[in-house]
Amino acid sequence: MDKKTLKDFDFAGKNALVRVDFNVPLKDGKVDDNTRIDSALDTIDYLIREEARVILMSHLGRPGGSPSEELRMDPVAEELAELLGREVKKVDDCIGPEVEQAVESMEDGDVLLLENTRFYPGEKENDPEFARKLAAPADVFVNDAFGAAHRAHASTAGVAEYLPAVAGFLMQREINSLGEAMENPESPYAAIIGGAKISDKMSVIKNLLDKCDQLLLGGGIANTFLLAQGFEVGDSLVEEDRTELAQEILSEAKSMGVEVLLPEDVVIAEECEEGVESRVVDRSEVPAGWQILDIGGPRTLEKYTETIKNARTVTWNGPLGVFEIDAFAEGTMQVARALAESEAYKVVGGGESAAAIRKAGVEEKMSHVSTGGGASLTFFEGEPLPGVEILDDLE
Ligand code: ADP
Ligand code: MG
Repeated sequence: MDKKTLKDFDFAGKNALVRVDFNVPLKDGKVDDNTRIDSALDTIDYLIREEARVILMSHLGRPGGSPSEELRMDPVAEELAELLGREVKKVDDCIGPEVEQAVESMEDGDVLLLENTRFYPGEKENDPEFARKLAAPADVFVNDAFGAAHRAHASTAGVAEYLPAVAGFLMQREINSLGEAMENPESPYAAIIGGAKISDKMSVIKNLLDKCDQLLLGGGIANTFLLAQGFEVGDSLVEEDRTELAQEILSEAKSMGVEVLLPEDVVIAEECEEGVESRVVDRSEVPAGWQILDIGGPRTLEKYTETIKNARTVTWNGPLGVFEIDAFAEGTMQVARALAESEAYKVVGGGESAAAIRKAGVEEKMSHVSTGGGASLTFFEGEPLPGVEILDDLE
């Protein structure tokens, strides 16, 4: 990464304003899943050891630009204190006199959590005045919120106008791990693309076409390609107005020597529900009124898993079926297991893709599973991440 990181700044005695992604699920006023808090601990621990005064900020949920009692950061502060094994002070605002006072009373190595940044409309609007107020008590900005890096908000980008800005460890690891697959992939490079966000995934394919050797399609994106090739797909999830683009991509892939793998046999059902009757059929035999809900036919899976086992680099964005329902999870699970066995450099990005990897129990076998859904999608699309762009360049 060509951006400054924690090691490029002397934090001792400095007020470090750290953007973290503490947008965690809450249940009964407590943190329900602390994965995101856990992911930020490396950076926080480092800053404590370096004797910075650590001022943390994050958004939480969608309060819509005004305070909301259920979306206060207090449960997050409690959870963080527990994980860190030390006191975490919490203030009920993210700008203004209350924050200034709290920061003034901090000692080196103290940790303070500010209130939800989305309690102000200026956060999402990236209002320069709001950003200036956020930055006011700080000497330096650390962005460790990879999960929010695809958004140009005041706390992810705006504050960098007023402060030196460096990447935290999580941000650095995400950019380096995703970048390693995309910048200099060892061949053969197999790119797996599935999921439901068809237009977004089309942009991902466009970006990966000149990097990968094989393109393995599943999910709604594969349905759209099958339709483009003239197959009847019944009531499957497709975007009909993307079939022309799919045809273009197929001919471009051909001219570039990229092999496109589409499902040959598929799992279908009349409804996308638990407990319904499902069948495996050839892709040319999907009856009207039925939907393709998984790639999981045996011929398809043999081809896909074989390709993955022979690859040296694999990126995966988007589940290959409705893996949340067991009857339609087999394709995604088998591909996940093949990936676990593969010796390739393998990275997974996307909110549901990461969940599928965890469901398969193979997270530990991956080279990297991204913590950012939207941000990793933007990365795979080859689009710049505002929360990274604003960081100081390495000299
Ligand atoms: P990610 O979050 O990994 O980027 P998406 O958000 O694009 O992936 O899509 C994930 C969703 O796609 C999953 O919830 C899954 O149920 C759904 N999905 C996958 N295949 C199909 C399919 N054939 N029909 C309908 N939905 C599908
Ligand atoms: Mg998703």
